[in-house]
Amino acid sequence: MPFISRMIVSLSLAIRHRRELRNLLDRTPRDNSILLLDPEALRQAGVAALALDFDGVLAPHGAPEPLPEAILWLKRCEAVFPDDRIFILSNKPTDGRCRWFARHFPAIRFISGVRKKPYPDGLNRVAELAALPPWAILMVDDRLLTGCLAALIAGALPCYIRSPYISLGNRTVAELFFWLLRAGERGCLRMISLPWGEQ
Ligand SMILES: [Mg+2]
Repeated sequence: MPFISRMIVSLSLAIRHRRELRNLLDRTPRDNSILLLDPEALRQAGVAALALDFDGVLAPHGAPEPLPEAILWLKRCEAVFPDDRIFILSNKPTDGRCRWFARHFPAIRFISGVRKKPYPDGLNRVAELAALPPWAILMVDDRLLTGCLAALIAGALPCYIRSPYISLGNRTVAELFFWLLRAGERGCLRMISLPWGEQ
């Protein structure tokens, strides 16, 4: 689906879920990154599976593999969650990334061939593969109106990465574009969740 059409769909779905999205934004610390997520604490809080976005969450945009610190964090996750309960749910499951994970984290599965987030199809697939109810799955994403919104629609748990990995030196135009997009999402959400926007 073309980018603009998906943006329009996202916006209409966001209006429906604006209160939950606004609560998520308000309760997320500005410096939230994967490094602030303690896998053991997540497990104790009832999370049984992880669905991880890639761009911004494990590496800067367009990177072929996770950053070294993200790799260490993934290893911590592996020690807590069974390997077959960690998934990569990216709108860009490129062959290079799939190959990298197959070599370094063979049990971590890429979800592909589904409609892109914010459609809940990818999370529904995760629930099916992990044989878990959606509410036991944590979707970790740096985009409110794609991954976090998909989690709310699917009935999964959203985790908003508000301090994503960015590399302005490598992909300046793309990173600036996504920086604006993320800021735009927050601004848009604040607008549609103003008191006069509530019915
Ligand atoms: Mg992302």
